[in-house]
Amino acid sequence: MHEMSLVSSLLRIVLEEAKKRETGRQRLQVTGVRLEAGALTGLMPETLEGCFALMAEGTAAEGARLEVRIRPLTGYCPDCGEEVSAGRRIFSCPRCSGCGVDWKGGREMEIMAIDVVPFSRGDAGAAEEEAV
Ligand SMILES: [Zn+2]
Repeated sequence: MHEMSLVSSLLRIVLEEAKKRETGRQRLQVTGVRLEAGALTGLMPETLEGCFALMAEGTAAEGARLEVRIRPLTGYCPDCGEEVSAGRRIFSCPRCSGCGVDWKGGREMEIMAIDVVPFSRGDAGAAEEEAV
């Protein structure tokens, strides 16, 4: 269950980050998270998004929308003499089919944004105003 442990760490970071932004007694609610992952992580955005929705239940991130973007791989091809990129794990150059491409990264994960709004449980009218 690679996804489960990954999402649980992600959720922990997101909740900690939301907590840090709280001022005084105003609690914050997470409404959205944007994550970027390298192509070699093998992560499926839909799986992560579904997992996140389940695990966020009962936390300040309940109902938050997780958006996952898979970053294309980038590398340098000595035959083309240029940077090339590929959307998935391939071993040859997408331009010249040479196999000497030096792919970089691909296993990174980065939280790009965490959206928070003041907590407004049980007060739907105020929630809409705060969301603007
Ligand atoms: Zn090439």
